[in-house]
Amino acid sequence: MFKRKIKGRRIPKSDIFINTIVTLVLCLFIFLFLVVPKVRLNDSLNKVININSSYNNKGITVEQLLFNKSIIRPVNKIDTSKSLINEVNYTYKDNIFTYHIKQNIIVKDIEKPKIILKGNTEEYYCPNSKYKELGYKAYDNVDKDITDSVKIKKYDDKIVYSVKDSSGNEKEVVRYIRKGDIKSPTITLNGDKTVFVPLNGTYTEEGVTVVDNCDKDLTNNINITNMIDTTKVGDYQVKYKVKDKSNNKSTITRNIKVRESLTPNTIYLTFDDGPRDGTTDKILDILKEKNVKATFFITSNGTDSLVKRIVNEGHSIGIHTASHRYDIIYTSLDNYYNDLEQVHSRIYNLTGIDTKLLRFPGGSSNTISKKYSEGIMSTLTKDVINKGYQYYDWNVDSTDAIYNTSKDDIYNNTISSISHDKYNVILMHDTKNKTVEALPMIIDYAKSNGYTFKSIDINTMPLMQRVNN
Ligand SMILES: [Zn+2]
Repeated sequence: MFKRKIKGRRIPKSDIFINTIVTLVLCLFIFLFLVVPKVRLNDSLNKVININSSYNNKGITVEQLLFNKSIIRPVNKIDTSKSLINEVNYTYKDNIFTYHIKQNIIVKDIEKPKIILKGNTEEYYCPNSKYKELGYKAYDNVDKDITDSVKIKKYDDKIVYSVKDSSGNEKEVVRYIRKGDIKSPTITLNGDKTVFVPLNGTYTEEGVTVVDNCDKDLTNNINITNMIDTTKVGDYQVKYKVKDKSNNKSTITRNIKVRESLTPNTIYLTFDDGPRDGTTDKILDILKEKNVKATFFITSNGTDSLVKRIVNEGHSIGIHTASHRYDIIYTSLDNYYNDLEQVHSRIYNLTGIDTKLLRFPGGSSNTISKKYSEGIMSTLTKDVINKGYQYYDWNVDSTDAIYNTSKDDIYNNTISSISHDKYNVILMHDTKNKTVEALPMIIDYAKSNGYTFKSIDINTMPLMQRVNN
C-alpha cells in the first residue's frame, strides 16, 4: 500500500494572531448584539403639543435580545396650562449600561380659532333685496370670544370671514351668497283640518294663511279648488295652492265631510261599556222584539258571540276602548290609541267591520282626564277626527250609570229629557240589570208618543260636546 506522507506546513505566528483577533472581534460583536440594550424614544425629541391638551407619554423602549422588551415612562408631570417647555428625563440603568434621554415637550397654542356662521355656508337672498348678514361668532381655545376681531371681506358671490388668535393661528370661513328665492311659502289652514258639514248645509270657507320669506302679500296668488257637493253625503277635499313670485309652490288640503244631521223627534239609543253576558243579550232581545235599532260602543269585555250578534241584528257598532281605565287611556295619545286599537281589531276580526265610530269614556267633555294629562282631550278630539274617526257624545243622560238610580228613575229621567224639537242621543249602559228593566218602558213611551228610532252610522253628523280639558 502506498502511503503518501503529507508534510505539515508550518503556520506562521502572525496568522494565528490575526485569527484570534478576528474571532475575538466577532465574539464581541455577538456579545454586544445580544447584550447591549437598544434604547429609543417613542416620540419626537422636541414634541409640540397644544395648550390645555393632555399628553399621553409614550416613554422609551428598551430592547435586549437576551431579555424582554420594556417600556419606561418617567413620572414627571407635564404642565400644559400655559406656553412653556417641559423637560422630561428618561433613565435606563442595568448592571453594565446607563442611558439618559432628554425630551422637550413644548406646550404652545397651535389650535386655530373657530368661526361659527349663523345660517349656512350657502345662503340665498331675496331678488328684491340685498344680502343681510346673518351673523357669526368666533371662539378661540385661549382667547375665548374673539368675535370682535373677525374681519369681513365682501365679494359679489361670497363673504370671507377671517380671524387670528393672539398666538397667530388663523382661520378663514367662506359663505357663498346667491341671489334668488328657493324657499316655498308656508301655508297653514285657518280653522280645522277636517270640517263636518250637514247635508244640504253650508260650507264656510275659512281660508289659509300664507307667509313667504320674500313676498309680503300673496293673497292674490292663492288658488282654492273646492269640489264639495253639500247635497250628497260624502268625503270631499278643498285644495289650496299658492306660489310666490319666484314660482315656489306650496299646497295644503282640508277634508270636508258632508253628513246627515241628527234628526229632531228621533231617538238614538246608545249603549256603552258592554258587551256583558247576562245583560247585553237581554237588551238585544228587547230591541229585536220591539224592532228598534241602536248603537253599541263596546269594550274588550263579554263573549265574542255578543259582538257578532250586535252586528248580525242590524245595530251599529263603535269603539269605547278596551280597558275603560282613565288612568291608562288619558295618560298619553299613544296609550289611548293602543287601547282603542284593541277594540277596533276585535270588532274587525269578529265582524269584518272597520268601524270609525267611537265614544270617549266619560265623553269628550270629561274633566277627569285633566288628572292624567292636561289638555289631552283638546288634542285627542281633533286627532281622532284627522285619523278618520267620528265621535259621538250624547245630549240625554238616562242616568243609569249613577249607582243609586232605580229602573223608574232611569225611565223618568229619560222621558223627561227627550223632546220632539231636538234629536235625542241617549246615553245608556248595557251592563246594568236596571237598564234592561227600564228599556222596554222607555221604548214603549217613545213609540206611543210619536218618536222614531235610529242607529248612528258613519254618515251621521258627529255629536260633539264642548271640550273642557
Ligand atoms: Zn263608559
